[in-house]
Amino acid sequence: MSNLDYAAKQLNKIRNRIKDATKAVGRDESEVELIGASKMQNHQLVRDFVTGGLGAIGENYLQEAIDKRQHLQDLTLDWHFIGHIQSNKTKLIAENFDWVHGVDRLKVARRIAEQNPRPEPINLLMQINLDNEASKSGASVTQAPQLCDQISQLENVQLRGFMVIPKPRESSAEQAAAFAKAYQLLAQTNQKYGLTMDNLSMGMSNDLEAAIAQGSTMIRIGTDLFGARPA
Ligand SMILES: *Cc1c(COP(=O)(O)O)cnc(C)c1O
Repeated sequence: MSNLDYAAKQLNKIRNRIKDATKAVGRDESEVELIGASKMQNHQLVRDFVTGGLGAIGENYLQEAIDKRQHLQDLTLDWHFIGHIQSNKTKLIAENFDWVHGVDRLKVARRIAEQNPRPEPINLLMQINLDNEASKSGASVTQAPQLCDQISQLENVQLRGFMVIPKPRESSAEQAAAFAKAYQLLAQTNQKYGLTMDNLSMGMSNDLEAAIAQGSTMIRIGTDLFGARPA
């Protein structure tokens, strides 16, 4: 099988999962954007997927992403930063990405706003640490609403919603409960502060169906799209 055939087949598989998952809960498949989580994957493979119709990729590591961008400059592609944000890296993040998923502090949002070199606002998603895990970044459920209010007042960025990575759970019912919590927090925060955040970045290879059932608008898929990550 050629690489382009492989990319087409893999994209088709994920698109079918999106179709089935949205249909099961009466949503339209166009409400869920596929983001290829392309960390560790080489630029040639990513190019084949973009040729096959992938319109957005998410990268975790800044230097790797910048290298990849140089190889993929000719493509029409939305760039999402989905990794941990170090505050001394915000300038490079602002210069290279259309969406930033891991915002969890006012300072980081403010720096990205100040360092945005383009006339359009950069889209931000606040990472929520749903399970209060010490190993994960993200704003706590209790701090998040007020932080959203503050970030939404900045110029040159637009706060578009939340990103969550819940801890692995035994059952799909438990996965669903975690995603439902993110959905409710978004609705409550919008209502409390009169905001219009409209995105939930949630769902990966193993839990995209549960995430879509609970209102996900962006799924970040690595393994089940590109294949296993090279070591
Ligand atoms: C790697 C990664 C993904 C993709 O994970 P898979 O299980 O391979 O689909 C999604 N989101 C983030 C933040 C990641 O780091």
